[in-house]
Amino acid sequence: MSIARSLLLWGSRNRWLERQARQRAFARRAVRRFMPGEELDAALTAAADLAQRGLGTVFTQLGENLAHAGEADAVRDHYLGVLGQIAARNLPTVISVKPTQLGLDFDLAGCVSRMDAVVEQAGRQGSRVWIDMEDSSYVDATLDVFRRLRGRHDNVGLCLQTYLRRTAADLNALLPLKPAIRLVKGAYAEPPHHAFPDKRDTDAAYLTLGTTLIEHAARQGGAAPVLGTHDVSIIRALQERAAAAGLDRRACEVHMLYGIRTAEQERLHREGYAVRVLISYGRAWFRWYMRRLAERPANVWFVLRSVVR
Ligand SMILES: Cc1cc2nc3c(=O)[nH]c(=O)nc-3n(C[C@H](O)[C@H](O)[C@H](O)COP(=O)(O)OP(=O)(O)OC[C@H]3O[C@@H](n4cnc5c(N)ncnc54)[C@H](O)[C@@H]3O)c2cc1C
Repeated sequence: MSIARSLLLWGSRNRWLERQARQRAFARRAVRRFMPGEELDAALTAAADLAQRGLGTVFTQLGENLAHAGEADAVRDHYLGVLGQIAARNLPTVISVKPTQLGLDFDLAGCVSRMDAVVEQAGRQGSRVWIDMEDSSYVDATLDVFRRLRGRHDNVGLCLQTYLRRTAADLNALLPLKPAIRLVKGAYAEPPHHAFPDKRDTDAAYLTLGTTLIEHAARQGGAAPVLGTHDVSIIRALQERAAAAGLDRRACEVHMLYGIRTAEQERLHREGYAVRVLISYGRAWFRWYMRRLAERPANVWFVLRSVVR
């Protein structure tokens, strides 16, 4: 891992830096590059605009590691309200949630039951709920949450991270469930015994695991592969494999983050692929934003430019 990436990921957990950033107008300006606004309304407006251009969306409210069950209940109620707004506006939008936002840190059963309520409501609207994957200390519990929900619902999907050494085994164990899997490279600071230190290994694992998912989807008609990446060469390689396996272009969705590679998002849509843009909103943007900087340390220049603007 590069020194810049390590420093930015360390900074993402620093409370003093977080307080400083939140008070600075330039930091809020810089964040706008990756999110349309802190309020849900901004996300809804952006989703409507993207929908007009043929792009679907995924909503996620920022925030992680809550302290009380009451806060987690409020997040559940928030997402139930969001689903209502999505239905009322007829938007092609699904939601993606972090297990720790729904109480995974203090109560696994409570987390499952809160997610269950959200997935149930989404199912009534014909919509899917995605479960984000957080740092490696949460993988076992998150897989447990997913298995319990998958036992009751078809409309729940899980994110898996290709930088983790364990993910190939996790994916193989999940395949009999015919899961919807959003494959990402992974965004957290992880020790080398958990995650590949060399990005080339993460990229190679992405191709291998993506191929496994695609072949499974083509053979069994069960797994729903989603490519959650901005890495165009990997997307192209896996789309070729999907075509060779006989999958329709829309069977293997591409998900990218708001504000990143927007021209590519539109190009893929024009070529007939299903594309969704993940829109984050909310006030707890600091940790999430620092992870975006860590993914591409050159982004720090945009922050510096915002200081003088
Ligand atoms: C839809 C979606 C959901 C995600 N969910 C999770 C999750 O639940 N858990 C998790 O750990 N991670 C998640 N991530 C983040 C993911 O793990 C990576 O950190 C992130 O996507 C960057 O890796 P990449 O695949 O784009 O590849 P990279 O090789 O890092 O990037 C490929 C190219 O994309 C562009 N790019 C990538 N990131 C940025 C950026 N921040 N700013 C500007 N350009 C950039 C650059 O041009 C870069 O060369 C998610 C990502 C997406 C797209």
